[in-house]
Amino acid sequence: MYAPYALRSEESRGRRYPEKPHPYRSAFQRDRDRVVHSRAFRRLESKTQVFTNRESDHFRNRLTHTIEVAQIARTVASALGLNSDLTETLALVHDIGHPPFGHAGEKALDRKMRHYGDIFDHNLHALRIVEYFELRYPEFRGLNLTFEVREGIIKHSRDWDASEFPELAEYLLDQRPPLEAQVIDLADELAYNVADLDDGVESGILSLELIRERLPEFERLWKEVEKNYPDALPKLKFSECLRRKLDHMVTDLIHASGHRIRAARIHRASEARQYPERLLRLSTEADAERRATKEFLHECLYDSSMLSDDRERLEDVISDLFRFWMENPKDLPASYQEQLEQEKPARVVCDYIAGMTDNFILREHEARIGGREDVEQKRRR
Ligand code: MG
Repeated sequence: MYAPYALRSEESRGRRYPEKPHPYRSAFQRDRDRVVHSRAFRRLESKTQVFTNRESDHFRNRLTHTIEVAQIARTVASALGLNSDLTETLALVHDIGHPPFGHAGEKALDRKMRHYGDIFDHNLHALRIVEYFELRYPEFRGLNLTFEVREGIIKHSRDWDASEFPELAEYLLDQRPPLEAQVIDLADELAYNVADLDDGVESGILSLELIRERLPEFERLWKEVEKNYPDALPKLKFSECLRRKLDHMVTDLIHASGHRIRAARIHRASEARQYPERLLRLSTEADAERRATKEFLHECLYDSSMLSDDRERLEDVISDLFRFWMENPKDLPASYQEQLEQEKPARVVCDYIAGMTDNFILREHEARIGGREDVEQKRRR
């Protein structure tokens, strides 16, 4: 049952190219299905979440992270009576614009684009994918998703200024995104905070002892679990702590947001949009815990020398190839040659690289740059 403030698919502002309604799937259900069947969605499997060098097959990649976000987002949406089809669609599409190598890739592309007076943003790139790069239908380019899904894509975790980004003006930039879209920001973060503790320990970069020492809330859970299961294997105690942590955060998000929606007297989806701030948020206490986990992960995992040395190397891979195609645009695939007639070369090269998987870009680097470096080394000798 939807709450009165859920965004119903009948209220959608529709698609760019009008289509006949489907006999048994709502507009948002169709959008979800279009995302799942897209090539960009399949590529998530070979894109870095945190660990590029996958020494273990148990680490999350962008696809499994996306599925975890969808699970959490659906739980929150159904507990709050939101439209879980729209929420699920937004969760499944939320990372589709990520370049290879996770944040290293994003940083390298953004740095390159700033050099040409532009930026790289993964939300904007996701919008270009669903509007332009996915080719599946004879009638139009892109997936022809509903307005609300496209709006949710660009408003994921950030706001835009219409004067700076006039091309986004149609997306109601002075309004908050629907509550269904607001769920995704938190579901994303709650998912990766817990997952990265898990993968961090699996990788050997983090230890259980360090987590217990640095995160008092985690230590409290550990003591609880030790009391309940004194004889369990430490590995199982750890996963029980992670399970409890995630459950605690998601439950807090549901209660705190539900309380906020009631206190603000929101009875329609449009009122949530007009409200001066995003209503889907954790309580003050849980938010402090979220921040502490995030800071800990930055300091001890993401910025650890093991991961940051790797990142520098990966940023170089992207910079090398960016330079290569700027100098040799004729070597771009035919479809990007076409795009060169309409857009600046830097944007075309950026789009091409951003769409790549980790595997593909490493092979390209080997073929285009690796080989060339060998030749130059031989020449110097
Ligand atoms: Mg994500």
